[in-house]
Amino acid sequence: MGQGKKEQIFLKNYVEELVSNTLDKLSKEGDFCTCPRCRLDIMAYALNHIPPKYAVTQLGEVYTKISYLEQQLEVDVTIALVEAIKIVSKNPRHDNSGF
Ligand SMILES: [Zn+2]
Repeated sequence: MGQGKKEQIFLKNYVEELVSNTLDKLSKEGDFCTCPRCRLDIMAYALNHIPPKYAVTQLGEVYTKISYLEQQLEVDVTIALVEAIKIVSKNPRHDNSGF
């Protein structure tokens, strides 16, 4: 029985990956705060507005399967992020000390 190589498999929400990558792209073009606090606030908002897409993946395979995602999902992610950036920029929750 399956005592061969140990495969580390886990659940992965590909939307989270896509949100992170898309936010990276947007932050190169956009003019908004990208400190860790604002970045995570933006991601949290966007992820709460997009249904997750979970898949079972193996360690090392994390980045390889993103292309299966439909184009529509990328559009949804971008729209949610633009909205999230607006909201977080209006009410940034980073503290004033480094800014
Ligand atoms: Zn910030």
